[in-house]
Amino acid sequence: MSITPLMPVYPRCGVRPVRGEGCYLFGERGERYLDFASGIAVNALGHGDARLVKAIADQAATLMHVSNLYGSPQGEKFAQQIVDSTFADTVFFTNSGAEAVECAIKTARRYHFANGQPERHTIISFSNAFHGRTLGTISATNQPKMRDGFEPLLPGFTVLPFNDLEAAKTAIDDSTAGFMLEPIQGEGGILPATPEFLSGLRALCDEHGLLLILDEVQCGVGRTGALFAHEHYGVKPDIMSVAKGIGAGFPLGACLATEEAAKGMVAGTHGSTYGGNPLGMAVGSTVWGIISQPEFLGHVNAMGERLRGALEQLIPNHDALFDSVRGMGLMLGLKLKSDSRAFVAHLRDRHGLLTVAAGDNVVRILPPLVINEAHIAECIEKLSAGARDYTPPAA
Ligand SMILES: *Cc1c(COP(=O)(O)O)cnc(C)c1O
Repeated sequence: MSITPLMPVYPRCGVRPVRGEGCYLFGERGERYLDFASGIAVNALGHGDARLVKAIADQAATLMHVSNLYGSPQGEKFAQQIVDSTFADTVFFTNSGAEAVECAIKTARRYHFANGQPERHTIISFSNAFHGRTLGTISATNQPKMRDGFEPLLPGFTVLPFNDLEAAKTAIDDSTAGFMLEPIQGEGGILPATPEFLSGLRALCDEHGLLLILDEVQCGVGRTGALFAHEHYGVKPDIMSVAKGIGAGFPLGACLATEEAAKGMVAGTHGSTYGGNPLGMAVGSTVWGIISQPEFLGHVNAMGERLRGALEQLIPNHDALFDSVRGMGLMLGLKLKSDSRAFVAHLRDRHGLLTVAAGDNVVRILPPLVINEAHIAECIEKLSAGARDYTPPAA
Protein backbone atom coordinates (compact mmCIF):
# COMPACT_ATOMS: atom_id res chain seq x y z
CA MET A 1 0.00 0.00 0.00
CA SER A 2 1.46 3.35 -0.92
CA ILE A 3 -1.33 5.77 -0.06
CA THR A 4 -0.61 7.66 3.15
CA PRO A 5 -2.98 7.34 6.12
CA LEU A 6 -3.56 11.10 5.76
CA MET A 7 -5.34 11.39 2.41
CA PRO A 8 -2.75 12.95 0.10
CA VAL A 9 -4.87 15.83 -1.23
CA TYR A 10 -2.57 18.58 0.04
CA PRO A 11 0.82 19.33 -1.50
CA ARG A 12 2.31 19.82 1.98
CA CYS A 13 5.69 21.50 2.42
CA GLY A 14 8.46 20.54 4.84
CA VAL A 15 7.35 22.85 7.67
CA ARG A 16 5.81 20.75 10.45
CA PRO A 17 4.55 23.16 13.12
CA VAL A 18 4.08 21.85 16.63
CA ARG A 19 3.81 25.07 18.64
CA GLY A 20 2.79 28.68 18.14
CA GLU A 21 3.50 31.80 20.14
CA GLY A 22 2.18 35.20 19.11
CA CYS A 23 3.30 35.83 15.52
CA TYR A 24 5.74 32.88 15.47
CA LEU A 25 5.44 29.20 14.68
CA PHE A 26 7.90 26.52 15.80
CA GLY A 27 8.59 23.28 13.91
CA GLU A 28 9.40 19.80 15.17
CA ARG A 29 13.12 20.54 15.37
CA GLY A 30 12.54 23.81 17.20
CA GLU A 31 13.04 25.99 14.12
CA ARG A 32 11.24 29.33 14.23
CA TYR A 33 9.11 31.00 11.56
CA LEU A 34 7.64 34.47 11.35
CA ASP A 35 4.04 33.62 10.55
CA PHE A 36 2.72 36.09 7.98
CA ALA A 37 0.34 33.45 6.64
CA SER A 38 -1.82 33.06 9.78
CA GLY A 39 -3.33 29.77 8.71
CA ILE A 40 -4.51 31.65 5.58
CA ALA A 41 -6.07 34.68 7.27
CA VAL A 42 -7.38 32.66 10.22
CA ASN A 43 -5.15 33.33 13.26
CA ALA A 44 -6.20 36.96 13.57
CA LEU A 45 -5.03 37.14 17.18
CA GLY A 46 -1.82 35.23 16.53
CA HIS A 47 -1.05 31.98 18.35
CA GLY A 48 -1.94 31.29 21.96
CA ASP A 49 -3.85 34.51 22.69
CA ALA A 50 -4.58 34.28 26.43
CA ARG A 51 -8.11 35.69 26.15
CA LEU A 52 -9.04 33.15 23.49
CA VAL A 53 -7.42 30.25 25.32
CA LYS A 54 -9.29 31.16 28.50
CA ALA A 55 -12.63 31.51 26.69
CA ILE A 56 -12.17 28.05 25.18
CA ALA A 57 -11.09 26.46 28.47
CA ASP A 58 -13.90 28.06 30.48
CA GLN A 59 -16.62 27.18 28.00
CA ALA A 60 -15.27 23.64 27.47
CA ALA A 61 -15.46 23.09 31.22
CA THR A 62 -18.95 24.59 31.46
CA LEU A 63 -20.76 23.23 28.39
CA MET A 64 -19.12 22.23 25.13
CA HIS A 65 -21.93 21.00 22.95
CA VAL A 66 -25.67 20.60 22.93
CA SER A 67 -28.02 20.07 20.01
CA ASN A 68 -29.82 22.86 18.21
CA LEU A 69 -32.97 21.16 19.50
CA TYR A 70 -32.47 23.38 22.57
CA GLY A 71 -32.41 27.09 23.16
CA SER A 72 -29.05 28.81 22.74
CA PRO A 73 -28.25 31.66 25.12
CA GLN A 74 -24.64 31.55 23.81
CA GLY A 75 -25.75 31.81 20.17
CA GLU A 76 -28.28 34.55 20.90
CA LYS A 77 -25.57 36.61 22.55
CA PHE A 78 -23.09 36.27 19.68
CA ALA A 79 -25.71 36.77 16.95
CA GLN A 80 -26.83 39.97 18.71
CA GLN A 81 -23.23 41.24 18.75
CA ILE A 82 -22.99 40.62 14.99
CA VAL A 83 -26.38 42.16 14.21
CA ASP A 84 -25.50 45.24 16.29
CA SER A 85 -22.40 46.02 14.21
CA THR A 86 -23.26 44.90 10.66
CA PHE A 87 -25.90 45.23 7.90
CA ALA A 88 -27.41 41.93 9.03
CA ASP A 89 -30.63 41.22 10.91
CA THR A 90 -30.02 37.51 11.37
CA VAL A 91 -27.17 34.96 11.45
CA PHE A 92 -26.79 31.21 10.82
CA PHE A 93 -23.65 29.67 12.34
CA THR A 94 -21.54 27.05 10.56
CA ASN A 95 -18.22 25.29 11.10
CA SER A 96 -16.46 26.45 7.96
CA GLY A 97 -16.37 28.92 5.12
CA ALA A 98 -17.78 26.57 2.49
CA GLU A 99 -20.77 25.83 4.73
CA ALA A 100 -21.34 29.55 5.20
CA VAL A 101 -21.32 30.00 1.41
CA GLU A 102 -23.68 27.01 1.00
CA CYS A 103 -26.06 28.66 3.46
CA ALA A 104 -25.80 31.92 1.49
CA ILE A 105 -26.69 30.12 -1.76
CA LYS A 106 -29.58 28.28 -0.12
CA THR A 107 -30.84 31.50 1.49
CA ALA A 108 -30.85 33.21 -1.94
CA ARG A 109 -32.74 30.38 -3.60
CA ARG A 110 -35.26 30.21 -0.77
CA TYR A 111 -35.83 33.96 -1.03
CA HIS A 112 -37.08 33.68 -4.59
CA PHE A 113 -38.99 30.50 -3.72
CA ALA A 114 -40.74 32.36 -0.89
CA ASN A 115 -41.59 35.11 -3.38
CA GLY A 116 -43.26 32.53 -5.63
CA GLN A 117 -40.46 32.66 -8.22
CA PRO A 118 -38.53 29.41 -7.76
CA GLU A 119 -37.27 29.66 -11.37
CA ARG A 120 -34.96 32.46 -10.20
CA HIS A 121 -32.29 30.04 -8.98
CA THR A 122 -29.10 30.91 -10.87
CA ILE A 123 -26.21 32.43 -8.95
CA ILE A 124 -23.83 34.49 -11.06
CA SER A 125 -20.27 34.29 -9.76
CA PHE A 126 -16.94 35.47 -11.19
CA SER A 127 -13.71 34.21 -12.72
CA ASN A 128 -10.94 33.07 -10.36
CA ALA A 129 -13.33 33.15 -7.44
CA PHE A 130 -12.83 30.80 -4.53
CA HIS A 131 -15.86 29.91 -2.47
CA GLY A 132 -14.86 26.57 -0.93
CA ARG A 133 -14.64 22.87 -1.81
CA THR A 134 -18.17 21.50 -1.47
CA LEU A 135 -20.01 20.48 -4.65
CA GLY A 136 -22.09 23.64 -4.44
CA THR A 137 -19.19 25.99 -3.93
CA ILE A 138 -16.98 24.43 -6.65
CA SER A 139 -19.93 24.89 -9.00
CA ALA A 140 -19.52 28.62 -8.39
CA THR A 141 -15.95 28.89 -9.68
CA ASN A 142 -14.33 28.36 -13.08
CA GLN A 143 -11.04 27.00 -11.73
CA PRO A 144 -10.36 23.62 -13.38
CA LYS A 145 -8.09 22.38 -10.57
CA MET A 146 -11.07 22.46 -8.21
CA ARG A 147 -13.69 21.15 -10.65
CA ASP A 148 -12.01 18.52 -12.84
CA GLY A 149 -13.24 15.01 -12.19
CA PHE A 150 -16.00 16.08 -9.83
CA GLU A 151 -18.62 16.58 -12.51
CA PRO A 152 -21.53 16.68 -12.82
CA LEU A 153 -21.51 19.88 -10.79
CA LEU A 154 -24.67 21.59 -9.61
CA PRO A 155 -26.81 23.37 -12.15
CA GLY A 156 -27.79 26.96 -11.49
CA PHE A 157 -24.39 28.68 -11.63
CA THR A 158 -22.91 31.00 -14.23
CA VAL A 159 -19.34 32.31 -14.04
CA LEU A 160 -18.53 35.68 -15.63
CA PRO A 161 -15.35 37.77 -15.84
CA PHE A 162 -14.53 39.58 -12.58
CA ASN A 163 -14.80 43.38 -12.61
CA ASP A 164 -16.76 43.37 -15.88
CA LEU A 165 -20.01 45.15 -15.07
CA GLU A 166 -21.26 45.10 -18.64
CA ALA A 167 -21.01 41.29 -18.79
CA ALA A 168 -22.92 41.04 -15.51
CA LYS A 169 -25.65 43.32 -16.78
CA THR A 170 -26.04 41.39 -20.03
CA ALA A 171 -26.21 38.02 -18.27
CA ILE A 172 -29.27 38.80 -16.13
CA ASP A 173 -32.31 36.78 -17.22
CA ASP A 174 -35.49 35.26 -15.76
CA SER A 175 -33.49 32.56 -13.95
CA THR A 176 -31.08 34.90 -12.14
CA ALA A 177 -31.19 34.79 -8.33
CA GLY A 178 -28.30 37.13 -7.61
CA PHE A 179 -24.56 37.81 -7.77
CA MET A 180 -21.97 36.26 -5.51
CA LEU A 181 -18.42 37.57 -5.15
CA GLU A 182 -15.48 38.21 -2.86
CA PRO A 183 -15.08 42.00 -2.52
CA ILE A 184 -11.34 41.25 -2.54
CA GLN A 185 -10.48 37.95 -4.19
CA GLY A 186 -8.12 36.04 -1.92
CA GLU A 187 -7.00 32.80 -3.61
CA GLY A 188 -7.37 34.56 -6.95
CA GLY A 189 -4.49 36.91 -6.01
CA ILE A 190 -5.61 39.70 -3.63
CA LEU A 191 -7.65 41.28 -6.37
CA PRO A 192 -10.10 43.93 -5.16
CA ALA A 193 -13.40 44.51 -6.92
CA THR A 194 -13.39 47.97 -8.48
CA PRO A 195 -15.72 50.44 -6.75
CA GLU A 196 -17.72 50.79 -10.00
CA PHE A 197 -18.13 47.03 -10.25
CA LEU A 198 -19.36 46.50 -6.69
CA SER A 199 -21.68 49.48 -6.61
CA GLY A 200 -22.83 48.63 -10.15
CA LEU A 201 -23.79 45.11 -9.05
CA ARG A 202 -25.67 46.58 -6.08
CA ALA A 203 -27.61 48.85 -8.42
CA LEU A 204 -28.40 45.94 -10.77
CA CYS A 205 -29.68 43.92 -7.80
CA ASP A 206 -31.92 46.76 -6.69
CA GLU A 207 -33.23 47.30 -10.20
CA HIS A 208 -33.97 43.62 -10.93
CA GLY A 209 -34.95 42.30 -7.48
CA LEU A 210 -31.76 40.22 -7.21
CA LEU A 211 -29.65 39.44 -4.16
CA LEU A 212 -26.09 40.62 -3.64
CA ILE A 213 -24.14 37.88 -1.86
CA LEU A 214 -20.68 38.80 -0.61
CA ASP A 215 -18.18 36.13 0.35
CA GLU A 216 -16.08 37.75 3.07
CA VAL A 217 -14.70 34.49 4.39
CA GLN A 218 -11.13 35.72 3.79
CA CYS A 219 -11.40 39.52 3.66
CA GLY A 220 -13.85 39.94 6.55
CA VAL A 221 -13.57 40.28 10.33
CA GLY A 222 -11.10 43.13 10.51
CA ARG A 223 -8.60 41.80 7.94
CA THR A 224 -8.78 44.90 5.72
CA GLY A 225 -8.93 47.43 8.55
CA ALA A 226 -12.73 47.67 8.42
CA LEU A 227 -14.88 45.10 10.18
CA PHE A 228 -15.93 43.99 6.67
CA ALA A 229 -14.36 44.85 3.32
CA HIS A 230 -17.63 46.06 1.79
CA GLU A 231 -17.61 48.96 4.24
CA HIS A 232 -14.69 50.45 2.26
CA TYR A 233 -16.99 50.55 -0.75
CA GLY A 234 -20.09 51.93 0.96
CA VAL A 235 -22.03 48.99 -0.50
CA LYS A 236 -24.22 46.70 1.60
CA PRO A 237 -24.90 43.06 0.71
CA ASP A 238 -28.17 41.20 1.27
CA ILE A 239 -26.37 38.03 2.32
CA MET A 240 -22.77 37.47 3.41
CA SER A 241 -20.61 34.47 4.22
CA VAL A 242 -17.96 34.80 6.93
CA ALA A 243 -15.47 32.35 8.45
CA LYS A 244 -11.64 32.18 8.80
CA GLY A 245 -10.86 35.08 11.18
CA ILE A 246 -14.20 34.89 12.98
CA GLY A 247 -12.97 31.92 15.05
CA ALA A 248 -9.30 33.01 14.99
CA GLY A 249 -8.32 29.34 14.79
CA PHE A 250 -11.43 27.60 16.05
CA PRO A 251 -13.55 26.15 13.19
CA LEU A 252 -16.38 28.64 12.88
CA GLY A 253 -18.34 30.34 10.12
CA ALA A 254 -21.50 32.37 9.73
CA CYS A 255 -24.04 33.34 7.11
CA LEU A 256 -25.42 36.82 7.70
CA ALA A 257 -28.57 38.16 6.04
CA THR A 258 -31.08 40.95 6.11
CA GLU A 259 -34.57 40.10 7.32
CA GLU A 260 -35.90 40.42 3.77
CA ALA A 261 -33.24 38.16 2.21
CA ALA A 262 -33.73 35.53 4.93
CA LYS A 263 -37.50 35.40 4.57
CA GLY A 264 -37.46 31.85 3.18
CA MET A 265 -35.26 30.42 5.95
CA VAL A 266 -38.01 29.27 8.26
CA ALA A 267 -37.96 26.48 10.86
CA GLY A 268 -36.87 23.15 9.40
CA THR A 269 -35.27 24.49 6.20
CA HIS A 270 -31.62 24.33 7.23
CA GLY A 271 -29.44 23.02 10.02
CA SER A 272 -26.10 21.77 11.31
CA THR A 273 -25.16 19.48 14.18
CA TYR A 274 -22.11 21.39 15.39
CA GLY A 275 -22.96 24.77 13.92
CA GLY A 276 -23.44 27.37 16.66
CA ASN A 277 -22.58 25.05 19.55
CA PRO A 278 -21.77 26.68 22.91
CA LEU A 279 -18.00 26.26 22.51
CA GLY A 280 -17.99 27.86 19.06
CA MET A 281 -20.21 30.68 20.27
CA ALA A 282 -17.98 31.44 23.26
CA VAL A 283 -14.96 31.62 20.94
CA GLY A 284 -16.70 33.73 18.32
CA SER A 285 -18.14 36.11 20.86
CA THR A 286 -14.72 36.62 22.46
CA VAL A 287 -12.97 37.19 19.11
CA TRP A 288 -15.69 39.57 17.95
CA GLY A 289 -15.51 41.51 21.19
CA ILE A 290 -11.82 42.15 20.53
CA ILE A 291 -11.73 42.70 16.77
CA SER A 292 -14.81 44.90 16.43
CA GLN A 293 -13.34 47.57 18.74
CA PRO A 294 -12.48 50.78 16.84
CA GLU A 295 -9.01 50.84 18.46
CA PHE A 296 -8.33 47.33 17.21
CA LEU A 297 -9.40 48.20 13.65
CA GLY A 298 -7.34 51.39 13.92
CA HIS A 299 -4.32 49.24 14.75
CA VAL A 300 -4.96 47.05 11.67
CA ASN A 301 -5.12 50.17 9.51
CA ALA A 302 -1.96 51.65 10.98
CA MET A 303 0.00 48.40 10.61
CA GLY A 304 -1.45 47.86 7.14
CA GLU A 305 -0.30 51.28 5.97
CA ARG A 306 3.15 50.80 7.44
CA LEU A 307 3.57 47.32 5.93
CA ARG A 308 2.27 48.46 2.56
CA GLY A 309 4.59 51.47 2.53
CA ALA A 310 7.58 49.29 3.42
CA LEU A 311 6.69 46.79 0.69
CA GLU A 312 6.37 49.57 -1.86
CA GLN A 313 9.81 50.85 -0.91
CA LEU A 314 11.27 47.39 -1.54
CA ILE A 315 10.05 47.22 -5.12
CA PRO A 316 12.55 49.54 -6.84
CA ASN A 317 15.44 47.70 -5.15
CA HIS A 318 14.31 44.37 -6.59
CA ASP A 319 12.46 45.39 -9.69
CA ALA A 320 13.44 42.30 -11.65
CA LEU A 321 11.44 40.22 -9.15
CA PHE A 322 8.77 42.48 -7.59
CA ASP A 323 6.04 44.07 -9.67
CA SER A 324 3.54 45.80 -7.37
CA VAL A 325 1.66 45.75 -4.07
CA ARG A 326 -2.11 45.50 -3.78
CA GLY A 327 -4.83 44.84 -1.24
CA MET A 328 -6.17 46.60 1.84
CA GLY A 329 -5.25 46.66 5.52
CA LEU A 330 -3.42 43.47 6.41
CA MET A 331 -4.69 41.60 3.36
CA LEU A 332 -1.79 42.43 1.07
CA GLY A 333 -0.48 40.90 -2.11
CA LEU A 334 3.02 41.29 -3.51
CA LYS A 335 2.80 40.64 -7.24
CA LEU A 336 5.92 39.09 -8.72
CA LYS A 337 7.26 39.10 -12.25
CA SER A 338 7.66 35.32 -12.03
CA ASP A 339 6.00 32.35 -10.29
CA SER A 340 5.11 33.20 -6.70
CA ARG A 341 5.06 29.60 -5.45
CA ALA A 342 8.83 29.20 -5.83
CA PHE A 343 9.53 32.47 -4.04
CA VAL A 344 7.13 31.62 -1.19
CA ALA A 345 9.04 28.32 -0.77
CA HIS A 346 12.37 30.19 -0.79
CA LEU A 347 11.21 32.66 1.87
CA ARG A 348 9.97 29.79 3.99
CA ASP A 349 12.90 27.41 3.65
CA ARG A 350 15.80 29.87 3.57
CA HIS A 351 14.51 32.81 5.60
CA GLY A 352 11.91 31.43 8.00
CA LEU A 353 9.15 33.68 6.68
CA LEU A 354 5.72 32.18 6.07
CA THR A 355 3.53 33.71 3.37
CA VAL A 356 0.96 32.14 1.01
CA ALA A 357 1.07 31.86 -2.76
CA ALA A 358 -2.02 32.96 -4.67
CA GLY A 359 -3.11 33.26 -8.29
CA ASP A 360 -1.62 35.79 -10.71
CA ASN A 361 1.96 35.37 -9.33
CA VAL A 362 0.98 36.96 -6.04
CA VAL A 363 2.61 36.37 -2.64
CA ARG A 364 -0.15 36.79 -0.07
CA ILE A 365 0.93 38.58 3.09
CA LEU A 366 -1.65 37.86 5.79
CA PRO A 367 -0.08 38.45 9.21
CA PRO A 368 -1.93 38.14 12.48
CA LEU A 369 -3.86 41.39 13.01
CA VAL A 370 -1.97 41.90 16.27
CA ILE A 371 1.46 42.43 14.66
CA ASN A 372 3.61 45.36 15.77
CA GLU A 373 6.27 47.43 14.04
CA ALA A 374 9.07 45.03 14.99
CA HIS A 375 7.27 42.18 13.18
CA ILE A 376 6.92 44.36 10.10
CA ALA A 377 10.61 45.25 10.19
CA GLU A 378 11.52 41.58 10.52
CA CYS A 379 9.28 40.65 7.59
CA ILE A 380 10.79 43.35 5.37
CA GLU A 381 14.30 42.27 6.32
CA LYS A 382 13.52 38.66 5.40
CA LEU A 383 11.80 39.67 2.15
CA SER A 384 14.70 41.83 1.18
CA ALA A 385 17.30 39.16 2.03
CA GLY A 386 15.11 36.61 0.25
CA ALA A 387 14.95 38.72 -2.90
CA ARG A 388 18.75 39.16 -2.85
CA ASP A 389 19.64 35.45 -2.71
CA TYR A 390 16.80 34.19 -4.92
CA THR A 391 17.10 32.87 -8.43
CA PRO A 392 13.74 32.37 -10.14
CA PRO A 393 13.37 28.90 -11.66
CA ALA A 394 14.03 28.85 -15.41
CA ALA A 395 10.77 29.54 -17.22
C1 LIG B 1 -11.25 29.93 2.52
C2 LIG B 1 -12.39 30.44 1.75
C3 LIG B 1 -13.60 29.72 1.64
C4 LIG B 1 -13.76 28.33 2.16
O1 LIG B 1 -13.62 28.23 3.54
P1 LIG B 1 -13.42 26.78 4.22
O2 LIG B 1 -13.44 27.08 5.69
O3 LIG B 1 -12.13 26.25 3.73
O4 LIG B 1 -14.55 25.93 3.80
C5 LIG B 1 -14.65 30.32 0.99
N1 LIG B 1 -14.55 31.55 0.47
C6 LIG B 1 -13.41 32.26 0.55
C7 LIG B 1 -13.37 33.64 -0.02
C8 LIG B 1 -12.29 31.74 1.18
O5 LIG B 1 -11.15 32.44 1.23
